[in-house]
Amino acid sequence: MNLPLIIRAEEHNEKTAIAATNGAFTYRDLLHTSSQIATSLLQNTEDLQEQRVAFLIPPGFEYVATQWGIWRAGGIAVPLCVSHPRPELEYVITNSGASIIVAHPTFEDILRSLPPQASLAQEHNLRFILTSETLPHNISRLPEIDITRRALILYTSGTTGKPKGVVTTHENIQAQVTSLSTAWEWTSNDRILHILPLHHIHGIINVLTCALWAGAECHILSKFDAETVWKRICDGDLTLFMAVPTIYVKLITAWETASKERQQIMSEGCAKIRLMVSGSAALPVQVLEKWQTISGHFLLERYGMTEIGMALSNPLHGERLAGYVGKPLPQVEVRLVDENGDLVPTGTPGEIQVKGPGVFLEYWQNPEATAKAFQNGWFRTGDTAVIENGNYRILGRMSVDIIKTGGYKVSALEIEEVLRSHPDIQECAVVGVADLEWGERVCAALVLQGSQPLTLEAFRSWAKERLAVYKVPTQILIVEELPRNAMGKVIKPTVVELFCSN
Ligand code: AMP
Repeated sequence: MNLPLIIRAEEHNEKTAIAATNGAFTYRDLLHTSSQIATSLLQNTEDLQEQRVAFLIPPGFEYVATQWGIWRAGGIAVPLCVSHPRPELEYVITNSGASIIVAHPTFEDILRSLPPQASLAQEHNLRFILTSETLPHNISRLPEIDITRRALILYTSGTTGKPKGVVTTHENIQAQVTSLSTAWEWTSNDRILHILPLHHIHGIINVLTCALWAGAECHILSKFDAETVWKRICDGDLTLFMAVPTIYVKLITAWETASKERQQIMSEGCAKIRLMVSGSAALPVQVLEKWQTISGHFLLERYGMTEIGMALSNPLHGERLAGYVGKPLPQVEVRLVDENGDLVPTGTPGEIQVKGPGVFLEYWQNPEATAKAFQNGWFRTGDTAVIENGNYRILGRMSVDIIKTGGYKVSALEIEEVLRSHPDIQECAVVGVADLEWGERVCAALVLQGSQPLTLEAFRSWAKERLAVYKVPTQILIVEELPRNAMGKVIKPTVVELFCSN
């Protein structure tokens, strides 16, 4: 039996699947090219039998055809991050035990120069394939892939220790995708602009795979650029847009610097879109409000994680609440528990735990970490939330955002939300730093608006009026910019280090 994703694609043969800078490609093109790639990967064997295939290809048709080719040949796809430096690439290739690397010619030099690769190549017969190589004419018979087989390994940007390989099966991916398709009513008439990295769940599942599952069109930009995104929005043909909060901030800045006439055209372009989504990091309420005045869209915020897919979402229809991530998505069970694993009463913060067919299979070759990640069959997300009026509000990661200070547990995200309303503060990151007297001290790294000087005394009295005494940052660091990962998310452990080195 073929994978359901492939069977569904056959129904849309002549429809456009992918539009990219080098042209538009139909579902037929995608099916044909991916079968050629699968043939080339198989090289006279019948099935890759879950061999890991790492690939480093810029966003576009070749990326998608390679991902499908790996799946159709029975391999596990291991997408590499185009912006990662050598050590990170090397780590993922070695940790996943990849036996084949597929690379776009632009990345040939960096990949061939990886130190362990020469030895890996000799010891393990590591194959290196360039996307510029001619693909075979005669297609091999492709194996039947059971959906319970492993499909994908994504490396988590993890807040502690080395990244772990999150393994999902075809069945997990299917559950993640059908849950979102139902909740957000994807159809083959949809057209989405893809501007997210393709080594991360948001770009791979929520945008790319959901679009292809629905028979929709996925318009891929090779990299994010605010002007190009606005131009595409102004074209007026998109129905969906999904991004992380930092991207909305960049789009807002670009809108603000445009002429009045252009601003009107930009806003009118947004009106043609049926749904705009934000996730992967907390969406500041100010950003949500600003975006609403610009675009008329009340962003749909959702919560999810590489290990579980999407778990919570504001509704497509009905009231969305600013600062909340809504309710559990279809097929997803969510509960909040205390340190002992007991359910917390409504209104009390607890750890988010998740169960359902979308939850990943395992951490790659790390049974210890896998076992630790579950409690009685529930995945422990490590995130804290509280339910208010039936909706979940995220308080942050237990490891870095929940600060234990003077006997209180305070949420860094809540303090950040207040600090951002200060007129001179552009961005901020609040962290706890170990302290003998307080347990942890509340510290804030601030990026200032323009060149405004900020007097600390005035800032403190402003903060005291708005925050309880134990939430007012006791140490403040003015920084040029906040450290961020490839997804644009602030790296809190690095912020903690900034305080400790000061
Ligand atoms: P990743 O696995 O890279 O997608 O990161 C998942 C983490 O991002 C979660 O564990 C949360 O800490 C955070 N996250 C995702 N969505 C949200 C959201 N809407 N609000 C706050 N944090 C979020």
